Amino acid sequence: MSKGETPIAEAPEGILKTKLALACRILGTEGQDDLDLGHVSVRIPGHPERMWMKGKGLCLSEIHAEDLVTLDFNYRKLAGARAVHGELPIHVEIYRTRPDVNCVIHTHPLYATAFAATRQPLPAVNNEAVLFAAPLPYFDASTDLIVKPEQGRLLAETLGDAKAVFMKNHGIVVVGESIEQAVARAYLLEKTIKTLFIAKAFGEPAGTDAAEAALKEDHIFGGDRIQSIWETLVRMLEQREKPLRLLEELLRKG
Ligand SMILES: [Zn+2]
Repeated sequence: MSKGETPIAEAPEGILKTKLALACRILGTEGQDDLDLGHVSVRIPGHPERMWMKGKGLCLSEIHAEDLVTLDFNYRKLAGARAVHGELPIHVEIYRTRPDVNCVIHTHPLYATAFAATRQPLPAVNNEAVLFAAPLPYFDASTDLIVKPEQGRLLAETLGDAKAVFMKNHGIVVVGESIEQAVARAYLLEKTIKTLFIAKAFGEPAGTDAAEAALKEDHIFGGDRIQSIWETLVRMLEQREKPLRLLEELLRKG
């Protein structure tokens, strides 16, 4: 965990749920909405076998705290008005095998999903790519939805101790110790693959070598950098949502 981040275990419930809703809206507005698909969850502090998760039926970009559902690792819904996404096993089985993980993101971002069809290695084409210099695993046991616990277990096994996993012909799963870390990783992974796509239009891109990538990761993402990326993403979201809020206010006033 970077300096300046709130450890999950100490975060009061309301703040963490608001943060999870913000995470959904950030990812949705930053190009990871795929209609009403995709979901984000966070492990509940003090209840390591429970989570809050985006409820079904809305875009990521539409989620507020009241749209979250509370679930346990026996696949039971404990609270929340919304239905549960069928791909719940992605979250449960990763939390079970990765005690270090407190946030799981599953999305179908356009560039990363297209790249996940290729099985190519991801060269470190930009500064952000050094986060993913240790090759990310590919899940290709199935390209179908992950709706059964055994499929979730297989996916968690493929993820291993990595930051993310490519799902062939489907999407990505990104994990983090905190919501801030997982969202920064998901945002930067899609940005890296967009950069790669453009670089390939110019020719065959060369990447940073492994030794320099490790140094760069330390220089660029050490200290409180992840926290400031998160705070910047929150401000960017606020700017985007401001006209909508003003319009709602005007309509309320009649
Ligand atoms: Zn999916």
